[in-house]
Amino acid sequence: MTFKELEIIEPILRSVKEEGYTQPTPIQEQSIPVLLEKKDLLGCAQTGTGKTAAFAIPILQHLYTERNNNKGKRKIKALVITPTRELAIQIGDSFTTYGRYTSLKNLVVFGGVNQNPQTNSLKGGVDILVATPGRLLDLMQQGFISLKDVEYFVLDEADHMLDMGFIHDIKKVIEKLPLKRQSLFFSATMPPAIVKLSASILGKPAKVTINPGQTTAEKVEQTVYYVEKKDKIKLLKHLLDEMEIDSVLVFSRTKHGSNKIVKLLDRINVKSEAIHGNKSQQARQKALKNFKDGVTKVLVATDIAARGIDVEAMSHVINYDLPNVAETYVHRIGRTARAGNSGIAVSFCDMEEREYLKDIEKLIGQKVKIIEDHPFVDESIEVPSVNKPAQKQKNNNNNKFRRRTSATKKPFKAGKKKFFPRKKSE
Ligand code: AMP
Repeated sequence: MTFKELEIIEPILRSVKEEGYTQPTPIQEQSIPVLLEKKDLLGCAQTGTGKTAAFAIPILQHLYTERNNNKGKRKIKALVITPTRELAIQIGDSFTTYGRYTSLKNLVVFGGVNQNPQTNSLKGGVDILVATPGRLLDLMQQGFISLKDVEYFVLDEADHMLDMGFIHDIKKVIEKLPLKRQSLFFSATMPPAIVKLSASILGKPAKVTINPGQTTAEKVEQTVYYVEKKDKIKLLKHLLDEMEIDSVLVFSRTKHGSNKIVKLLDRINVKSEAIHGNKSQQARQKALKNFKDGVTKVLVATDIAARGIDVEAMSHVINYDLPNVAETYVHRIGRTARAGNSGIAVSFCDMEEREYLKDIEKLIGQKVKIIEDHPFVDESIEVPSVNKPAQKQKNNNNNKFRRRTSATKKPFKAGKKKFFPRKKSE
C-alpha cells in the first residue's frame, strides 16, 4: 500500500515523501480512507503508531480541496484538542510539515504562557487550531475563539484527558461545536468512561484498533534489572557507561523523583535535565531542544510530560521506576519504537515494583527478560541455586521472578567502591 493508493492529493504526497515516509503505517492505512469519506472515527491507538498523520493528512486534504469555497478571513475549520502542551506543539508541527504545500494555516494554543502572541495570531485568522482544553476555554470565554465554523473535530489521547481531570472542560467545548461535523476520537485505552465519552461525541463511527501490546512488545527489546531502590542511580550510571548510550529518556513516576535523579546524576558528572509539569513551558522546551540537539544525553521525564516528546532517533528508554499502570509501560517503551524503528527498553525493578512488573507482563503477554549479570543485583530476590542455602529459598514467595542462575556463573562483586572511581576514559 502506498500513500498514492490512499488517494492523497499531490501537495500532501510531496511533503510526506520529503519526510521519508515510504508507506502508510497500519493506522494510516485503515483510517485515511474512512476519514476521506468524512465518516466519524473511533481510534484505539497509542502514540508512536503514526496516528497524528492518520488524522492530520485527511483534515488537510479536506480543507485544501474545499478552500475555494472559503473566501475572506480564515476561520477555524478544524479543531484538535490534546492534553499536554508538548503534544499540542508536536501536532501543530505535524500539520505544518504535512501541510507545507497547502498554504493552510495552523495555530497551537496552550496555557502557562502569555496569551498575546496566541490572540494576535487568532486575529489574523487560522484554518486549524490545536489546543489544550484549559487555554482553549479561556480564549473562548474571552471571545478570541469561536467554534461555530468547525467542521473537523479531533479529541486526542482521550484517556489521558480524563486522567488529568479535563472531562468538564471537554464537555463545555463540545457544547459549542456545530452538530454537523466530522469527529475523530483517539485513545490508547478504552475503559468504560472513555467509551461513554466517545458515544457522546461520535455519530456512527468507523473503528480502528491498533493493538498496543502486540506492536510495541514485538518491536522493542525489553529487559529488567532487579535492583534495590538505593542502588538505582548507580545502575543507571553503570548502564550509561557500559551501553555507550547516546541519548536516553529516563522515566520517573513523580516530579520530585525526576528532580532527584537529575541531582544525583549531576553529582557523578552526568549531564541531564528533567521535564515535568512543575517546570515552566520555556524550561521544558529548552530541555527538549538540548536533548534533541544532543547537548543533554539524558532526559528525565514524568509520564505526562513525556507524552509529547517526539525524538526520531531515540534508541533507549529506561524505566527508573516501573509505572503502577501497565498501559503506561507500553506508552513509555513505545517512545523508542517510533513508526517502524526498533528500540531498547530497560526497566529497573525494586522489591515494591514486582507487582507492577507482573501486571505489565500480563498486559504485553510476554515475560520481560531478566538481566542477572550486573553489579547491583537485588540480593533480596532469592533464587533456587546450588549456591543458595535452602532456608532463603523458602522465604521467597515470588518464585515467578527469581533470577535464573547457574553453577558456572561467576559470583559478582557488588561494591560501592568499585563503582564510582571508574571514570570514563578522558
Ligand atoms: P505519532 O504516533 O503520530 O506520534 O507518530 C510517531 C512517529 O512516526 C513520528 O515521528 C512520525 O514522524 C512518524 N511517522 C508517521 N507516519 C509515518 C510513516 N508512514 N512512515 C514513517 N514514519 C512515520
